Amino acid sequence: MRYEDSIRQIKGVGEKAEQRFHKLDIRTVGDLLEHYPRAYDEFHDIVKIAEAEEGEMTALEGVIAGRPSLYSNGKLKIISIVLQDETGKITVTWFNMPFLASRLKMGTRYIMRGKIGRKNGKLVLEQPKLYSKNEFFKLVGRMHPIYPLTSGLTNHMVEKAVGEALNSVEEVTEFLPADLRKRQELLGYKKALHDIHFPKNQVEYRKARKRLVFDEFFLYQAALQAIRVRNYPKSMYVMEKKQELETFVQNLPYSLTQAQKKVYGEIEQDMTGGITMNRLVQGDVGSGKTVVAVMALFLTVCNGAQGAFMVPTEVLAIQHKESLEAMLSSYGIRIGLLIGSMTAKEKREGKEKLASGEWDIVVGTHAILQDNVEFANLALVITDEQHRFGVRQREKLMEKGDVPHVLAMSATPIPRTLALVLYGDMDLSIMDELPANRLPIKNCVVGTDYRPQAYRFMKEQIDKGRQIYIICPMVEEKDEVELESVTVYAEQLKSIFPPDISIDFLHGKMKPKEKNEVMQHFVEGATDILVSTTVIEVGIDVPNATVMMIENAERFGLAQLHQLRGRVGRGKEQSYCILMYGKESKEGKERLSILAGSNDGFEIARQDLKLRGQGDFFGVMQSGDKLFSLADIYEDAGLLKAANEEAKRYAFDEVSMFYKKNRRLVEKLNSYMGNVSL
Ligand code: ADP
Ligand code: MG
Repeated sequence: MRYEDSIRQIKGVGEKAEQRFHKLDIRTVGDLLEHYPRAYDEFHDIVKIAEAEEGEMTALEGVIAGRPSLYSNGKLKIISIVLQDETGKITVTWFNMPFLASRLKMGTRYIMRGKIGRKNGKLVLEQPKLYSKNEFFKLVGRMHPIYPLTSGLTNHMVEKAVGEALNSVEEVTEFLPADLRKRQELLGYKKALHDIHFPKNQVEYRKARKRLVFDEFFLYQAALQAIRVRNYPKSMYVMEKKQELETFVQNLPYSLTQAQKKVYGEIEQDMTGGITMNRLVQGDVGSGKTVVAVMALFLTVCNGAQGAFMVPTEVLAIQHKESLEAMLSSYGIRIGLLIGSMTAKEKREGKEKLASGEWDIVVGTHAILQDNVEFANLALVITDEQHRFGVRQREKLMEKGDVPHVLAMSATPIPRTLALVLYGDMDLSIMDELPANRLPIKNCVVGTDYRPQAYRFMKEQIDKGRQIYIICPMVEEKDEVELESVTVYAEQLKSIFPPDISIDFLHGKMKPKEKNEVMQHFVEGATDILVSTTVIEVGIDVPNATVMMIENAERFGLAQLHQLRGRVGRGKEQSYCILMYGKESKEGKERLSILAGSNDGFEIARQDLKLRGQGDFFGVMQSGDKLFSLADIYEDAGLLKAANEEAKRYAFDEVSMFYKKNRRLVEKLNSYMGNVSL
């Protein structure tokens, strides 16, 4: 069996299973082997009942004291017993497993393993599995992989398929040079691949992970180098400064912050200085990046060329197009929109206008990247919310012009040292100031019992003419549950609020057209409360919205919460963020209180890192274009730097030799970076 063989070749994977694997984007043996566990279940030794701790997966051994009791709680059928050892007693419960009642024998010894929870103030062992001594001691001391799953695919099925694949895959090519591996103390590829799935212990796991994380970074860094080699530093579009720009700035309804002026200055220097701009602007949510981008576009159009503005969602594209028009159309600048949900006719006409130069600026989604989109003379490419795009897409857009200037904008706070490595091919501008008219957002962290009060508060805000966002988490990304929770929630709200308050909802499963309409109503102020999943998180700007309430806030990463919160506090009114936790947990509360204590994205990133030792902070990026599967740029910052240095040691064609040894790697690289010709 080889990497590129279909997963159907694996023993035990039939047609049904194949389809389910496809849902996870696993098509080949190689895909499966790179479907890494998301966590491991470590079987520890048996614990005495008196020493059991809440929240831990725990194995207990004891005898059953008393008869099992059976009762119902709503639809749930519950069996409960008391387990006893020489140190104490604990209640054990199972849901919907009535057949257990006849299996459990009073006075018999059992090993049971499950999670320790708390009920009515007392510890309970929940939903444990039963083991014989023999079974249990075979499992103890090992780490069992836990995989990302989809419905119909059990962990056991994935584990088995991976095991089969590892056994029968013929050749796993080592592609890193031996001296590099020695310098960086890296495991061989084959061993790393085996151990990441089935490590015996933490040490093995960490070694395997180190090797695979290094690979991801190294690949990325080497490809960045290749791009650098290919970039022409000399610009095809040397621009002139324009008087009109000063008029534009004077006519804005506000004055620019010092940071906005500084960053625009850096952009202008690039574009007028004879080099090809390749710049990343990093600025916290609400720092006013859009207007800086608009100024760069204005300069471009005044110089007789075209600009493209690419954003990650249609909703955002529509909004940006409108705010660009509001700022620019009085200067005779023509702006077009190109998004997937337009009709074929609209798209065709748009493309004609771009090709003829009738449009000066196009705002759009990935639709701009299509092969048949041509420009008359594209001189500036802007990507907003850069973390949502791969380098590949930025590259693809560049290919549409004769080496245009590139400006990328991102609200993800990455420390400067890391940004330099991660976006190694770009110059960096930092916008570290919010507009002066802003009142800091007031935050609170509350339990669900606060909900009625929160609703009353919202009603007051609506009476003052303000608007509200409520975010419900999607329970399982690939499930229907997402849709359920948002629509059901919105329905419930309607019965709570008076009928003249208009409530609408938004979720990822809606058609783009519907989403755009819902968003448009909210932007126009026709909707008072918008219940949404995180689809709302990127870029949207509705300054009249003053309340953001996030349900089950403990389920989100801090970066994501910070982005979500950034949807309010954009105007001159006082804004509020209500972080509601659904499940009481000390750790969760502590995390949320970081957010309540600061409105500064960089500060939050630092704190999160300190608290957790590793960030899910960068989760934002991973949920978008998944650049790395295992690597975490915060946690693995050291390896990232090492990979960067290693990549620099090798000449361009040497690097290309490593890749040529392994077709799969070339493919992977191309999917990171676009057509890097190695
Ligand atoms: P982000 O950096 O998150 O993309 P935006 O560019 O969307 O932020 O700007 C947020 C809001 O702040 C917008 O409503 C914009 O009009 C406003 N804004 C931008 N610059 C300033 C400024 N210098 N003074 C006051 N308001 C500003
Ligand atoms: Mg923005």
